[in-house]
Amino acid sequence: MSEKELIQNILRMAGEDRNLVERACDFAQQKHAGQTRFSSEPYFVHVLHTAYILCELGSSSTTIAAGLLHDTMEDAGVTYKEIEELFGGEVAFIVEGVSKLGKLRYHGADRHNESLRKFFVAMSQDIRVLMVKLADRLHNMRTLAFIPETKRLRIARETLEIYAPIAYRLGIRKINRELEDLAFPFVYPEEYKKTIEFVKSQAGGKDQEDLEKFLRSIKKELALSKVPVVRTEYRVKGLYSVFKKISRRDKQNIYDVLAVRIITPSTDDCYRALGVIHASWRPLPGRIKDFIAFPKPNGYQGLHTTVLTGSEQTVEVQIKTEEMYLDGEYGIAAHASYKETGGRAKGQGFKWISGLLSGSAMRNHSDAKDAPKWIKELVEYQKTKGSPMTDELHGDFFSHRIFAFTPNGDVIDLPINATPVDFAYAVHSEIGDHIHGAKVNGKMSALDTPLANGDIVEILTRAKSKPNARWLNFAKTASARKRIRMKTEKKEAADKKAPRKKAR
Ligand code: MN
Repeated sequence: MSEKELIQNILRMAGEDRNLVERACDFAQQKHAGQTRFSSEPYFVHVLHTAYILCELGSSSTTIAAGLLHDTMEDAGVTYKEIEELFGGEVAFIVEGVSKLGKLRYHGADRHNESLRKFFVAMSQDIRVLMVKLADRLHNMRTLAFIPETKRLRIARETLEIYAPIAYRLGIRKINRELEDLAFPFVYPEEYKKTIEFVKSQAGGKDQEDLEKFLRSIKKELALSKVPVVRTEYRVKGLYSVFKKISRRDKQNIYDVLAVRIITPSTDDCYRALGVIHASWRPLPGRIKDFIAFPKPNGYQGLHTTVLTGSEQTVEVQIKTEEMYLDGEYGIAAHASYKETGGRAKGQGFKWISGLLSGSAMRNHSDAKDAPKWIKELVEYQKTKGSPMTDELHGDFFSHRIFAFTPNGDVIDLPINATPVDFAYAVHSEIGDHIHGAKVNGKMSALDTPLANGDIVEILTRAKSKPNARWLNFAKTASARKRIRMKTEKKEAADKKAPRKKAR
């Protein structure tokens, strides 16, 4: 897409406040004038792509405007105040959040990745900050080949370890899949090649023509049984997702490399469609999964089965409603959009997803009545508070947790009111056992100081220092308490056994 086409498309999908988006677009163009990317393209093109991805997610005008402005603070010296005055507090808040997140660095310490992901979400405070950051990262990954080789690996790893899982958690499978597949060849080049070979061998005889033929006969059977179908499609499993599956289970066969999807108007129709399909094609035992009655932890819903299509070929069939489909592909993005704009989705929000969306499907979707519980709560919360703060989401991810740093940037995940003693034991029991003192944000601090989110904690150790039973009065983590008890009891026992020199 040319620069001009991008702008046209963004304005077409700009949502309720087209004027805001248009002004943000002009402002970004002006501020990034003369700047170029590694690809030698104008920098402005990057922010256009970022905004366009946000449009594709059905974002609101506010989020799209923030997408256009997301690098103006960091790279063009624009201030928070300036953005606030020109585009309002919400846009400024999102842009600031994105700029802050840009400063976080991934250190590749595997054991803390989960904590870093949580911290990342906590830092972002607002789901829209994450959306802009994900869109920004997606475009950066699409153009990764232009970035100097020395930086490439770090960015690709960070994408695989931090960004892709966040997209997955938020249920935005579409972005999750693309991020994974863009990063995969850079992070694991050998495994990538092997996975391609594997997929080729699995897909073997099943080419597109076979699948189309199979889909035609499914549609025929469903029509004969009067089960309504909104539409059908194929889905090819992401390569990284295949790789994870083969390495996890050491499996020779993966049945869902290729899958067909059947979208029906109602949940009832899903079950009827499954019955018709099983009556016509033999299902593989153990491959029938009811994610409608038992949704996946991230809220995913649908019926899955694997059937023999004849000549020993198997195909996974996924049956779901349009709402389940939208939730599965766009997750919180679909709901965030609904939340922000009230009824906008009815008119235009999701039109781009599929020209085949029926009006009733969209209306039902706007009711969000089948949304995963935590998303519903989030939507409710934001409606009543009118605030973008995602406390409900926080509750889900961070009930009573804080995140502190080691001096070299590792994130330590701790319960609220945890102390330097808990921190030390969380890093390593040997460090806990030899605490001599602690510096919090560079200042010597008492060992019972409650730590706060984002504190940098340095533990000073001495070989002769030992745990003290008094620490039990303030240590919060089970691991620290257990170890302190063990060490101090041993000492007491040893003291009792030892001959009392003074008594003699
Ligand atoms: Mn950017």
